[in-house]
Amino acid sequence: MLPVVALVGRPNVGKSTLFNVLTRTRDALVADMPGVTRDRHYGFCRLGERHFVLVDTGGLADSDEGLAGLTARQVELAIAEADVVVFVVDARDGLLPTDQAILERLRRTSKPMLLAVNKLDGLDESVALADFARLGVANPMPLAASHGHGTLQLVKAIETLLPAGEPETPSGADEGGVRVAIVGRPNVGKSTLVNRLLGEDRVIVSNVAGTTRDSIRIPLERDGRKYTLIDTAGVRRRARIDDAVEKFSVIKTLQSIDAANVVVMLLDANEGVTDQDAGLIGHALEAGRALVIAINKWDGLKTYDRDQCKRSLERKLTFVEWAPRLTISALHGTGIGELMKRVNRVHAAANAKLTASDLTRALETAYAAFQPPLVRGHAPKLRYAHPGGTNPPTIVIHGSRTKHLAESYRRYLENFFRKRYKLEGTPIRIDFREGE
Ligand code: GDP
Ligand code: GDP
Repeated sequence: MLPVVALVGRPNVGKSTLFNVLTRTRDALVADMPGVTRDRHYGFCRLGERHFVLVDTGGLADSDEGLAGLTARQVELAIAEADVVVFVVDARDGLLPTDQAILERLRRTSKPMLLAVNKLDGLDESVALADFARLGVANPMPLAASHGHGTLQLVKAIETLLPAGEPETPSGADEGGVRVAIVGRPNVGKSTLVNRLLGEDRVIVSNVAGTTRDSIRIPLERDGRKYTLIDTAGVRRRARIDDAVEKFSVIKTLQSIDAANVVVMLLDANEGVTDQDAGLIGHALEAGRALVIAINKWDGLKTYDRDQCKRSLERKLTFVEWAPRLTISALHGTGIGELMKRVNRVHAAANAKLTASDLTRALETAYAAFQPPLVRGHAPKLRYAHPGGTNPPTIVIHGSRTKHLAESYRRYLENFFRKRYKLEGTPIRIDFREGE
């Protein structure tokens, strides 16, 4: 499971600025996608060698007042789940009593901790750092988050404190078959679906006790195919956790998404697509995962409500138009066979083998059919393409002036490739490279 890093500190020290810098995606997959609601509190940081889940605890507490905010339930949970805590302070304000109090509180958790001294831009670094030396934290990290200064060094320092890494998960299916994460808000029916899948197939839930980080993996065999269900609510339910907040953890959801090959996003037909749903789908997209959207509790829904639900989907999920969606009833077992067929299909698409020669031919066809608008009198040239990886399928395109290509043209190409290679249910990455 991905390690977890939490940003902690007083309001206004720059936590959310730092969060944005660290979770910014380098490719345009998510960045410019219209309609994606980006979660501003939880995200993936992929800047360094080791990737991790980043939590900005700042926005999690309702009363975000220093120490009081720190004891809010959500923040406590985030800190409890974190492997490393980054304690952010403000060099312009200098050391304040609240900082001292927060530090004392953090020390009681005995988590590995880094001190990040932010807003150093335009200040004398050694003077500013000396002020915070009184905190007694070794090696404070100088930072100017809004200028992007010091952030890479911070990521490197974080990496040294992360627990020993497990080997990178292979992108394709391994002996355990396709890894499937069933995700969704509390009460959408995740555990009902898991039990349905297991019960129907009379699969023995073998020893599912996870690794050190209580990741739970359930083997499943269905129609002669192997799957591994990852870290679902269904099993955790037994661990006498009845607090809804504790039962549903965005951190665990992100870890599951990261560990999965395919994400099954469960929606509740009674409620349509909520902002939280859209946010979770955004995370799946950030992670580049193949995606199936299953609208649960379709049973007993009146025609009017069914129409409402479908409209809500059409309106709110335009940014994942390519994701197959189907209606199911986990309770009655309707649509489950179809669901698993979609899982197989999107997994195959995510691992589609593309060749350089065919991609280049496809690119030529697409370019001939519709050329990108001129940039200062010159047409951006797209010369050739080759595969850059699977899961998600990545297409590398070499050309000139590609930086000026409009987002709409990138999407045109994406749709073109998607149709040509029948890439159903998977995001597609297109990397443009300048020159030969
Ligand atoms: P949070 O409440 O801890 O999440 O703080 P924010 O990220 O919202 O930042 C509070 C203010 O500090 C904003 O106006 C930021 O633009 C500003 N800020 C953040 N980082 C820096 C920095 O490195 N230098 C300066 N000068 N300002 C910063
Ligand atoms: P989780 O929190 O996502 O794991 O949700 P649960 O599986 O615990 O389900 C929450 C509630 O929704 C339970 O009362 C389930 O019986 C009910 N439920 C789950 N799936 C269905 C369904 O397909 N139809 C109906 N009508 N209720 C369902």
